[in-house]
Amino acid sequence: MRIDGAVALVTGGARGLGLAIASHLQSLGATVIAADLDQDALSQLPASLTGRILDVTSPADARAVIAEIIERHGRIDILVNNAGVIYNEPFVNIMNPDGIMHDYGRFRASLNVNLDSVFIMTSAVVEQMVTRRGKGVIVNISSICACGNEGQTAYSAAKAAVNAMTVTWSRELGRWGIRCNAVAPGFIDTDSTRRALSEPILKHIQASTPLRRLGEAGEVAQAVAAVIENDFINGAVLAVNGGLAI
Ligand code: NAD
Repeated sequence: MRIDGAVALVTGGARGLGLAIASHLQSLGATVIAADLDQDALSQLPASLTGRILDVTSPADARAVIAEIIERHGRIDILVNNAGVIYNEPFVNIMNPDGIMHDYGRFRASLNVNLDSVFIMTSAVVEQMVTRRGKGVIVNISSICACGNEGQTAYSAAKAAVNAMTVTWSRELGRWGIRCNAVAPGFIDTDSTRRALSEPILKHIQASTPLRRLGEAGEVAQAVAAVIENDFINGAVLAVNGGLAI
């Protein structure tokens, strides 16, 4: 798909990887709507990006924002499901005064934002791609942690399920000319990574990565653009991780 002239919706587009993806698609000629829960971050978007307030866990919100974009731009060609919350909690934490087991409510909350949201947004966007019988591309932002990672019961499970949905949708939607791929970043130098991981852990990750560094947000954005532009990539989970295996 040509990115130049396309209409793209990037969720979680006001910060971090989402902002890098939105800016890169815009620089390649797309009209980009960066949708996010964070009003403050949206108010600081560059003027070239259109910001929309959106909670990706709300089907009603999703439908309203998508209807507004279609009314204004006629269609959505590209959906990047990027919004997510990196969530760490050990399954067993004997030091936790509230109970040693991972809390079920927090498990469900992580699944809601990291997994259910991808279903909610994609089902709302794909409907118009199918009914107008146009081409469309979905890109889900997964993670290296989808294979399972210590301290990430919920997050890893959510990202593994996102990978599975990506493959399922690539098969079901391909007949309508709609492609679905995932990009799975390793450890990328964003505020959320620096919030989630201590300096010694980051140093260990860098030392364990064959390229001996964290990734850049722009490198994830380039991978997203590549899977959008290549019309025969469908059902892929593209690793962008410097060769790190966890
Ligand atoms: P971030 O916290 O910097 O940005 C996430 C954005 O999503 C924020 O702007 C936040 O407001 C938004 N968001 C959160 N909940 C939302 C909701 N309910 N509705 C709408 N917007 C919401 O995080 P990031 O590092 O840029 O991560 C972006 C994506 O990349 C996530 O899916 C994350 O799991 C994935 N990822 C990140 C890394 C990394 O190293 N940073 C690695 C692998 C995967």
